[in-house]
Amino acid sequence: FAKEMGRNSIAFYQPRHLDDRQSRYRIASVLHQAIEQEEFSLVYQPQVSLKDGQLVGAEALLRWDSSTLGKVTPDRFIPVAEDTGMIDEIGAWVLDEAVSELARWNRMGHTLKMSVNVSARQFQRSEVADQVLAALEHHAVAPEQLVVELTETSFMHSASATERELVRLREKGVRVAIDDFGTGYSSLSYIREMSLDLLKIDRSFIQPIPHSETDRNLVKAMIDMSHAMGLAVVAEGIEQSEDLEILKELGCDQAQGYYIARPMSGELMREWIERDGC
Ligand code: C2E
Ligand code: MG
Ligand code: MG
Ligand code: MG
Repeated sequence: FAKEMGRNSIAFYQPRHLDDRQSRYRIASVLHQAIEQEEFSLVYQPQVSLKDGQLVGAEALLRWDSSTLGKVTPDRFIPVAEDTGMIDEIGAWVLDEAVSELARWNRMGHTLKMSVNVSARQFQRSEVADQVLAALEHHAVAPEQLVVELTETSFMHSASATERELVRLREKGVRVAIDDFGTGYSSLSYIREMSLDLLKIDRSFIQPIPHSETDRNLVKAMIDMSHAMGLAVVAEGIEQSEDLEILKELGCDQAQGYYIARPMSGELMREWIERDGC
C-alpha cells in the first residue's frame, strides 16, 4: 500500500513540476529564439473524403522541441505566442513551410490540399492575406490548394478586419474553414455572413455519436445546416471505425482523426501520399 501511495504521489508531482518548468513566463522567454534555433517543425494529418475514402489533403500542425523546455504542445505555446505577438512571425514561418511542402507534393505528381491554422490575432494585423498570397506565389502553388483554418472566436475580435482579409483570400481562390465548430460562441448569422467554404465539427461532438442518438442528431443537424449554407463539412477526431460509418451515413464530406492517421512527419506523410494519394 505504501508503495502504491509512493507511486501515486510521484505521478501527481511530475505534471506539476513539468507545469512549473513550462510556465507561460518561461515559454515566453525562450519562444522568440525558437525559429532561429530551428526548434519548430510541422507534422501532417491526412484528411480523407467520406464518399470514396480518397486522400483529400492534410492539416499542418506545429511542433516545438525546445532545447531548454523539451517538447511543448501547441495548446501551451500558441496562446503565449498570441499574447506576446510572436504569433505573427511564427505564423509566417508555418505558412511558408506548409506551402513549401505542398509544392513538394505537387512535384511528386499529387495535387492535394493543405490546411493551415491561422490565429485570430494574425487576422487583426492586415497583412495575413498578403502573407498567404506571397507564400503561394513564391512556391508556385495554386491558391485553390490552400485551406486557411480559423476558429469561431476569430470572428468575435475585429470581425470586419477578419472578413476583409477572408474576402481577399477567397477572391484569389484560397479556401477558408471554420475550425472547432460548436465550441466557441459564434451565432448562425456570423457563419452565414462570413466568407467560408468549409466547416470543421469539433471532436467533442463526434466522440459520443456511436452511443448517443441525441448526439448523432445534433451532428446531423450541423451537417444539414452547413450544406444549406453551401459549406462542405469535415469531422474532426475520428477515433474508431464506427464513427466513420455513422458520419458517412449522415452525409458528412470529409474526416480527420487518429483512426485514419495520427499527425506524422513530412517524410512519413510523403510515403503515405505515395501509397494512398491520387
Ligand atoms: P486544431 O486545429 O483543432 O487541430 C486538431 C488537433 O486535434 C491537433 O492537436 C491534432 O493532433 C488533434 N487530433 C487529431 N485527431 C485526433 C483524434 O482522433 N483524437 C484526438 N484526441 N485528437 C486528435 P495539436 O496538434 O496538439 O494542436 C492543437 C491546436 O493547436 C490546434 O487545434 C490548433 O488550434 C493549434 N495549432 C496547431 N498548430 C498550429 C499552427 O501552426 N498555428 C496556429 N495558429 N495554431 C496551431
Ligand atoms: Mg485546425
Ligand atoms: Mg480543430
Ligand atoms: Mg483547436
